[in-house]
Amino acid sequence: MAGDGPIVLLMAMRDEARGIIGRLGLVQVEARPWASWLPMRLYEGVIDGERVALVLLGVDPATGVDCIGPEGATLGARAAVDELGAGLIVNAGAAGGFEARGQAVGDVILSGGPFWYHDRRIPLGDFEAYGRGGYTTADVSRLADHLGLPTGVVSTGASLDAPASDLMEMGRTGAAAKDMEGAAIAWVAKLAGVELVSLKAITDLVDHPAPTGEQFMANLHVAMERLTDELERCVRALVGDRSLVRPPR
Ligand code: SAH
Repeated sequence: MAGDGPIVLLMAMRDEARGIIGRLGLVQVEARPWASWLPMRLYEGVIDGERVALVLLGVDPATGVDCIGPEGATLGARAAVDELGAGLIVNAGAAGGFEARGQAVGDVILSGGPFWYHDRRIPLGDFEAYGRGGYTTADVSRLADHLGLPTGVVSTGASLDAPASDLMEMGRTGAAAKDMEGAAIAWVAKLAGVELVSLKAITDLVDHPAPTGEQFMANLHVAMERLTDELERCVRALVGDRSLVRPPR
């Protein structure tokens, strides 16, 4: 069973989080429990009597954009574990999917791993396996049955595009959701022994000829409506029964 600490939602972009903040009535906490120079923002609420937190990765002061990617995600995960004492982390957001796997924009995928990296190529002994990751963070089979959602492998990289070497890696691991945060959060969750569940809505198709950025912008709104609906169901289900998520087998 997942730990006793609060459920902490970890989300990268303001556009991803807006829906669930409104839906669950979460409120921004101005006095955050972490150093003031960290960009992450904290939201909290009480859902069916239980405290739930949301860590948003925040805004990069130099460029004014959301701190998407593995670096911001690592900081956010560290805060979720150490500053909030997370009993269970839910990483929710947008992801690329694959037409060849029969996926469509708006599909929502649930995952407890494995979380792979597709762009950390280190052909140097055991560093190769370290670079690839492949972390399994939770058994989500009961939660998937409960919510009626498909499960799949998450693959993470620091880029939005997908050059041939990344596509080859994602083919090898059978990736169903390409994101920029999952594996970084999974690494922290594994180190800390905290269960992690990922919920990703498909905003773009990696193997579609249209440029990924254009697909992402065109589909973000509709995909995030689906994400908000499924994330609300997921949070309410977990508040009701934490044992829907089990330690990895
Ligand atoms: N142009 C956008 C950038 C979004 S980057 C903007 O600034 O508004 C994409 C975000 O959604 C990342 O946080 C990533 O986790 C996820 N994502 C969606 N589609 C993706 C894809 N095809 N590859 C990698 N990450 C993707």
